[in-house]
Amino acid sequence: MNKKVFDRKRKDFRQFRDYDYYDQSKGKYFLMPFNFHRINKNREVLINEIGDFIFAPVGTYETIVKRELSKEKHPELYQDLVSNHFISEEIYSPNIDLIATRFRTKKLFLDRFTSLHIFVISLRCEHTCAYCQVSRVTQNKEKYDMSLVSIDKGIEFMMKSPNPNVTMEFQGGEALLAFDNIKYAIKKAQEFAPIYGKSINYVICTNLALINEEILEYCKINQVLISTSLDGPKYVHDKNRNKPNCSSYDLTIRGIELSREILGHDKVSALMTTSSHSLNYPVEIVNEYFEQGFSGIFLRNISPYGFALRTEKNRYETEVFLHFYKKALNRIIQINKEGHFFTEDFSKIILTKILTPFNIPYVDLQSPAGLINGVVVFNYDGAVYATDESRMLAEQKDFSFRLGHLLENKYEEIIYGLKSRRIAQVWTNESLAGCSECAFRVYCGADPVHNWATQGDMYGYRPSSAFCNKNMEVIRYLLTLMDSDDETRDILESWIK
Ligand code: SF4
Repeated sequence: MNKKVFDRKRKDFRQFRDYDYYDQSKGKYFLMPFNFHRINKNREVLINEIGDFIFAPVGTYETIVKRELSKEKHPELYQDLVSNHFISEEIYSPNIDLIATRFRTKKLFLDRFTSLHIFVISLRCEHTCAYCQVSRVTQNKEKYDMSLVSIDKGIEFMMKSPNPNVTMEFQGGEALLAFDNIKYAIKKAQEFAPIYGKSINYVICTNLALINEEILEYCKINQVLISTSLDGPKYVHDKNRNKPNCSSYDLTIRGIELSREILGHDKVSALMTTSSHSLNYPVEIVNEYFEQGFSGIFLRNISPYGFALRTEKNRYETEVFLHFYKKALNRIIQINKEGHFFTEDFSKIILTKILTPFNIPYVDLQSPAGLINGVVVFNYDGAVYATDESRMLAEQKDFSFRLGHLLENKYEEIIYGLKSRRIAQVWTNESLAGCSECAFRVYCGADPVHNWATQGDMYGYRPSSAFCNKNMEVIRYLLTLMDSDDETRDILESWIK
């Protein structure tokens, strides 16, 4: 390349400055690794590698990085930065071991490995929900139930997890259509648990249409929790969750009441899914959960996978969901201001990451990602998937995240196989372009399945990623709320106590 062309091209790029500019020994303090995000036009937040944060006026980051901060002129900020490990007065921070311990604590979930084992006990269902995330088949097709031999192998697999505390979750279709198989599975797991030193939590995910006293008495004796779906008030729930010839809402509410009566109030949880129809009712949906006696709600957007998006009406933009989310969150904060404890559970997970040294093992917000590390799914036909979302892709003949088969592969072949290793190359947000320099990285996660399903490759491209756009805006909004006034900050902090 001739010199003229080279010089012209150089001007088009940002260039490294002279060595002097980067020479830290000239400053009065040394920079530790941290990043920043402008949360609104006046304020920015500085966040370090272990999730400590400091709110500051816009421009503070630049002042610090240029080493123009002075102990005399900014005594309070200077002290905050030293004590929170953003800057150090010595070239090697004396707190480096403490920081390493804090970092290990954030990644502690890796120590124990897979906890959640989902058994898709049957694909049969008696509902015909508008957004159903998997294909469903009619009640009569027995061949869509998990076989006893697959159940045995799934339990064997679960016993091999290094985690002493595992959760065995039964999903469908409608899981209660195969209640005899659930009883078989729980009995088997109970026999194996003491041999392998496992403590097992049992959860049945059900729409509650088939629940009765006999089933609940069984759940009580065997300490089985119930997880159900409630999408909001009757006019929202019944539109989303269609049950031919009757009201799904009425059955769900009756089922929640009966379950609470027999199992106890806190043994029944509910999840909502935000359909396009739900988007019009953020306040009403929150009010429904509050009035039904729940202590919180998890505001979930529709998954961009599987049958859910077959119909155009189930598609909506991330911005539209975020608008819904903020309206609902503001209503929840209002309920707290009126003197009631009521949480938004997605925010609660992020707030735990922001405000404590710990990291809630929530599959969708982990790095390394929650798939395989936190969850595996055994489909009704014995196939093993990395996550529930992976099997939704498989229902549309995309087997990219099918790790193996219970009857054909050993535990080691599935967990350490080629597919798992390929996924592992892109499941850490610390090493993904866009995420690696993002200030919110420590509060966020990585999701190769989402990247694959929405962008066509597991690595993903952050600027147009719905996963990124949603998480970044929710985290920014929560930080803005925390920075806005003491009453709101106290409310948000009370959710994690
Ligand atoms: S996904 Fe987006 S918000 Fe999350 S760490 Fe990556 S760049 Fe940041």
